[in-house]
Amino acid sequence: MTGRALIVVDVQNDFCEGGSLAVAGGSTVASDVNDLFSGRGYTAIVATRDHHIDPGPHFSDDPDYVDSWPPHCRVGTPGVEFHPAVETEPFDEVFSKGEYSAAYSGFEGVSPSGESLADWLHRHDVDAVDVVGLATDYCVRATALDAATEGFRTRVLLAFTAGVSPTTVAAALTELDTAGVELVGQVTSHD
Ligand SMILES: [Zn+2]
Repeated sequence: MTGRALIVVDVQNDFCEGGSLAVAGGSTVASDVNDLFSGRGYTAIVATRDHHIDPGPHFSDDPDYVDSWPPHCRVGTPGVEFHPAVETEPFDEVFSKGEYSAAYSGFEGVSPSGESLADWLHRHDVDAVDVVGLATDYCVRATALDAATEGFRTRVLLAFTAGVSPTTVAAALTELDTAGVELVGQVTSHD
């Protein structure tokens, strides 16, 4: 038996309204993803989180919003916490990434015991994944691309994502489609 896992990407305070790197619609996504946690037949539900200690040039006082960003999701600050609207009890495991470098993909993350996301999913007989969360054009994009590269049948549930900018979201969706990732639903405008 194999099954499909839900990967909830970076639904954290700093990526939601009021955070240091807020994405429009982030808090809406944080509450909407709860609707996915039961009745969908997922084999497992996992979350990723940006978990920065000293990620070098990923942080900048003069960010370009492409490769450098305002400081965000620093360990020990409220910004690193999951948004209060998202129910964390259903998470079977949480994968932390980016302690000392930039890390956009959840597949760069590790569990508290140090296991990679790919190893964890294989160990739980997962062969397909649905990816949701923040932000569509960065960490959702990178996580879904890596999932496809790792051989998982991969979908992105667009109604449960929010992006930084329409231009980069459009580019990301083209890239995901080309990589064989199935795009389900429509991008919601959170403006
Ligand atoms: Zn980061």
